[in-house]
Amino acid sequence: MNRYLNLKTYTFMFLFILGFLLYWFGYIGNKDSFNATSLKRNYELLVGLENSKDFERLYDEFYLNNPLLGKPITKEKFVETKLKKSVNNFNAELKLHSITFNNNDAFINRLIVDCIDEECSQTRKRRAYKKWTFANNQWFPNGEVMCIRNNPYTIPPEFERSISLIIQRAKTSDFSSTNEWAKSIEESKNCIDIQYANTDEEIIGAEGLFTFNKDNNIERYSILVSPRYQVKDDLITAFLLVHELSHVINYQQSLSTGEMADCFEDEANAFGNQNEFIALLNDEELQSLNLRANYSKSHELNNMIQVYNEILNFEGENYSEKTLNYVKSSPYYQSQCRNFN
Ligand SMILES: [Zn+2]
Repeated sequence: MNRYLNLKTYTFMFLFILGFLLYWFGYIGNKDSFNATSLKRNYELLVGLENSKDFERLYDEFYLNNPLLGKPITKEKFVETKLKKSVNNFNAELKLHSITFNNNDAFINRLIVDCIDEECSQTRKRRAYKKWTFANNQWFPNGEVMCIRNNPYTIPPEFERSISLIIQRAKTSDFSSTNEWAKSIEESKNCIDIQYANTDEEIIGAEGLFTFNKDNNIERYSILVSPRYQVKDDLITAFLLVHELSHVINYQQSLSTGEMADCFEDEANAFGNQNEFIALLNDEELQSLNLRANYSKSHELNNMIQVYNEILNFEGENYSEKTLNYVKSSPYYQSQCRNFN
């Protein structure tokens, strides 16, 4: 009798431990764990489902019980939207670089190489961090970010002050696209490294220069500013930085979408943002700029005003069309964009 009971107890214990182990390693109920292996499995599943266009299962796996979705979306609507968006999508190859954890979030540094035709004769590369969040014991996709550094680079304090001013003003704009732009800078601030160039020659005589990083480093977007700006005031520096920061944000967008922005349009956009920034300054700030231009004869500021006035004389329905025509006709930008393409 005793032996029988013992056997029953052992069998029970054995099954209990086996069940526990199976549960622990995720074989029962396919529960996720808060670790890289589990996240990787989920992300690869998601990319696989996108590839096979199995949007029904994609919805069931990642959107049905997603507690992170502000506004739930129905399966029909989800599938319909995905099918529409993916008409020209062919196979996509995933290259996973690294995973970084931060509280309940994880950031997957990844490169996607999309085939843009059936034969995959041409490809497009998309680069970004995919953010995933662990909620209710599951991993859920939670958007895309371009910078995950917790701390900023050490930059001269005048650049810090200028960036703060730019963000603050851009947030007050009536245009939602400018508010979004401010948000993008705020999110990427820790990855933007701004330093003075040693000499003007180093930046080919420009006032400022954003250098595209060819080594695929998405942790550092480098801007060099002419040493002449060391004696300028924050407003003039901010005006210049709006231009360079516009290049950074456009570059991030092209990394994320894989669609390279046209070089002339990129320049015109940067000038357009500078023009908008002026409109966001208050009367006192404008007066201060006027004084600098008229009385202290700031060469850099007068240069900027001259360009602004020149743009107004170009053909075009609005400021952005005029700006595009201005940069297209400028020998400086013609040469820069030739090198770029
Ligand atoms: Zn530029």
